[in-house]
Amino acid sequence: MRTGIATVCLSGTLKEKMQACAIAGFDGIEIFEQDLVTSPLGPEDVRKMAADLGLGLDLYQPFRDFDGVSPDLLKANLRRAEAKFKLMARLGMDTILVCSNVATATIDDDAVRAEQLAQLANLAGDHGVKVAYEALAWGKYVNDYEHAHRLVEMVDHPNLGTCLDSFHILSRDWDTAPIESIDAEKIFFVQVADAPKLSMDVLSWSRHYRVFPGEGQFGLAKFMGHVVRAGYTGPVSLEVFNDVFRQSDVERTAVDAMRSLIWLEEQSAKWLASTSAEAAAGNTGALRRRYPMELATLPKVNEPAGFNFAEVKADDTAQLEKLLGQLGFAFEGRHRTKDVQLWTMGQARVIINEQAAQHAEPAIAALGFDVDSPVIASARAQQLKAPVVARKVQADEEVFQGISAPDSTEIFLCQGSPDGTAAWTHEFGEGLEHPSAGATAVIDHVNLAQPWQHFDEAVLFYTSALALEPQPFAEVPSPSGLVRSQVMQTSDGAVRLVLNLAPIQQARNEARKTYQEHIAFAVEDLVATARAARDRGLEFLQIPANYYEDLDARFDLDPGFLATLQELNLLFDRDADGEFLHFYTATVGSVFFEMVERRGGYDGYGAPNAPVRHAVQYDSLHRTT
Ligand code: MG
Ligand code: MG
Repeated sequence: MRTGIATVCLSGTLKEKMQACAIAGFDGIEIFEQDLVTSPLGPEDVRKMAADLGLGLDLYQPFRDFDGVSPDLLKANLRRAEAKFKLMARLGMDTILVCSNVATATIDDDAVRAEQLAQLANLAGDHGVKVAYEALAWGKYVNDYEHAHRLVEMVDHPNLGTCLDSFHILSRDWDTAPIESIDAEKIFFVQVADAPKLSMDVLSWSRHYRVFPGEGQFGLAKFMGHVVRAGYTGPVSLEVFNDVFRQSDVERTAVDAMRSLIWLEEQSAKWLASTSAEAAAGNTGALRRRYPMELATLPKVNEPAGFNFAEVKADDTAQLEKLLGQLGFAFEGRHRTKDVQLWTMGQARVIINEQAAQHAEPAIAALGFDVDSPVIASARAQQLKAPVVARKVQADEEVFQGISAPDSTEIFLCQGSPDGTAAWTHEFGEGLEHPSAGATAVIDHVNLAQPWQHFDEAVLFYTSALALEPQPFAEVPSPSGLVRSQVMQTSDGAVRLVLNLAPIQQARNEARKTYQEHIAFAVEDLVATARAARDRGLEFLQIPANYYEDLDARFDLDPGFLATLQELNLLFDRDADGEFLHFYTATVGSVFFEMVERRGGYDGYGAPNAPVRHAVQYDSLHRTT
């Protein structure tokens, strides 16, 4: 698959954008007109620079408001087009994007449109230019790709073809299957963009909220599958207008963009395999049909089987040790060669890392996931351009395959075991007898705060590298703003990661992390766990009395049960599937812990209680500073 990206996706100058695209490994780019017009580089400079960087100049865009106009306007439009064709010759470019008319069309007649497009195609032919005609979702008369292609067929000129843009097609819910019947020779260009499902006017949605494939909710693998079946072999190019990407670090965004195409390529191949005639006939062993477009695949991974460990980094570990002890965790000892402690409660393992933590406030630093094969999972992550994390190990110690997540949390791919144990724990507490088994627990979920500019990148990272599935996102009110909350989880819920987009006001203070992150452990009897923790002196997050009054009003709880909840500062939720009990500890550095009990099939996180938690934490943060 030939990969491409429009310069409008990125921040910076044209030169910076082109360099970033080359570093990220794109085959070609689309030159967004505004980027050229505002550049000190002349067309010949751009042409040379692209050649030096090994980048194809695949599309000049956009040319607007051409068709369906009055004769006077047509004359002016042809003059305008000829100027661009001459410019393209200097750039060494041969394809231009022409969007269906939005602003100046006054004649709604296909015969007139076809006649005018034929004049454009003739002129383009004189200059060796190919015109890729695209139906904008908000085009005045032409807003459907099949309509646009009918016009292309009516004109029937070698210099006029179709541009398929996934946003314009999927935002309008047009059926994508008819793409297969388009003559591949007539598909001049394919642009891809994903988007979250939003309820707003299509133009604003398109201009501000497009995201890279895998970061939104569009069925892009299916779209691409139909394009591949049509026989298309040209560039598959990202055209993503996004307010955040246009102000983020250009090189990083380009890598995020490239990752999305690598992932889309794999997903498209999977979609094709799963919908082929052989698969439909149940003959999965049959040779996969070959299409003219080669689709690369990635090392295959299954979703992780569970959390292997969570790691908190801290200089002063006293408060963390106290908290974990009060929660009922057992200290398993120190690592035999590193300044690292291991605390466990059943299969919930927490590492306290004192290495390279000078003056660091306690913070979540790493997560381990159980995978079938750490080597294969790591190879996949690296092909998806995840940065590798190096950890020093001594002989006989387990080598962890690590990658760095977009928020710089270190992700370790660990060898899972059927009984949920971890071999590396033997490197701790030499000769120490294991303390008697107390209450058992597992890591239920981990909640990570994401910097605002890396949120979408994080969703794609965990989807593509770790095979976690994004759930519909929620917005939780907090005293300092709305917190966007995105759950990423495995189908069985064994791994649940909650990504929170902290309000900018909270995330801005880099010197002192004021946004908070937590690790939640699931136990079988939360009330007993809470009582034992209280007896050991645990400081609970104090829940206001108003909350319990509201709880009673909503759920009509047994008075004795309600009193127990209030006495222990427990929170409660119930839905059609079951019930959820949980409590929070006070915060140390930027970390706090949560204990949960899931009853029945409850699959959520106590979302109705999140605003209470945010408000109480905000209050205590502002009281102590
Ligand atoms: Mg487009
Ligand atoms: Mg939670």
